[in-house]
Amino acid sequence: MTKKVMILPGDGIGPEIVEQAMAVLEAASGKLNLGLRFERGLIGGASIDTHGEPLTDAALEAAGECDAVLLGAVGGPQWDTLAREIRPEKGLLKIRSGLGLYANLRPAILYPQLADASSLKPEVVSGLDILIVRELTGGIYFGEPRGIRTLENGERQGFNTYVYSESEIERIARSAFEAAQKRNGKLCSVDKANVLEVTVLWREVLDRLAPEYPDVALSHMYVDNAAMQLVRAPKQFDVMVTGNMFGDILSDAAAMLTGSIGMLPSASLNESGFGLYEPCHGSAPDIAGQGIANPLATILSAAMMLRYSLDMSEAAVAIEAAVRKVLDQGLRTADIHTEGCQKVSTAEMGAAVVSAL
Ligand code: NAD
Repeated sequence: MTKKVMILPGDGIGPEIVEQAMAVLEAASGKLNLGLRFERGLIGGASIDTHGEPLTDAALEAAGECDAVLLGAVGGPQWDTLAREIRPEKGLLKIRSGLGLYANLRPAILYPQLADASSLKPEVVSGLDILIVRELTGGIYFGEPRGIRTLENGERQGFNTYVYSESEIERIARSAFEAAQKRNGKLCSVDKANVLEVTVLWREVLDRLAPEYPDVALSHMYVDNAAMQLVRAPKQFDVMVTGNMFGDILSDAAAMLTGSIGMLPSASLNESGFGLYEPCHGSAPDIAGQGIANPLATILSAAMMLRYSLDMSEAAVAIEAAVRKVLDQGLRTADIHTEGCQKVSTAEMGAAVVSAL
């Protein structure tokens, strides 16, 4: 059966890394007879330049009609001076909320071959394998009212609203419990229940659901402690679940434990398993067009897409094994390069994964 994938390369290094991920998907599709078909669309600055907005309704609709979406990255300095409503990043928020992609899954895996690239000591991080489940369509990033107002005394005041309804908490909690069931059965929920009422409710909902998942050990941790523990003893975690803002910050910290943000894939899923897959990093304008970006996060995102949305686990496993093989061969893009390894370009890394497949 044919599966349709919407490809949204985006800006900066986006087109370069997505091209390599597509080559890997095409190779896997040919080898394992997956029947993948691709459509292309515009998002971010590329869409602003063509249509005057970061994601058109037509592009959103076309994405929703596919079986999954693979995205590069959006943004760049040339669009930073535009009004906030039409900046590239708004395209991301629009596709996430438009397709109901509330569950963001970010694995942080330290490949043993890259232990030296981590900023932490190898013994603290070697074997690290964490999954951060971040709520993506609610919380303070979307809460209303929001804005900047002028008070009676003439002073300006900025304000946002941190809000979660019980049903929003429940669905992300269930995604996290289910993910923990498929891994090592440990779930740590991160909140700030000592200060914020919204996370008191968050904690209550997690506790209410826990008996339904007797094979998962639930624990709770305040976000400040979680940030500290992530850099002190990260291997204590299996799955972490948290709200939008805390997840944004903690997942970037977890990313750095693994050495390079260029290695980390992500998935954003809705209730029906439809998903958008993208690397955790941004559009890296500082290296765009130089052919040196690391395409592995995008290639690993494509593997996650095969596993979570397209029910093609065998192909996902094959791609992940091919990535490990090229690392074993000592091939490294500049961001993960260490002495004694062979430095390769974006295209050479992509081609090496294809041939390892
Ligand atoms: P960034 O992730 O783009 O870059 C941070 C640093 O990591 C840079 O030095 C960059 O060269 C390096 N880097 C990132 N990806 C790499 C890769 N694959 N290979 C090698 N090195 C890589 O973050 P930033 O500089 O803060 O943001 C740049 C632009 O990206 C901004 O416009 C920002 O808004 C946007 N952004 C987009 C997304 C997204 O599309 N999901 C996420 C974050 C930032």
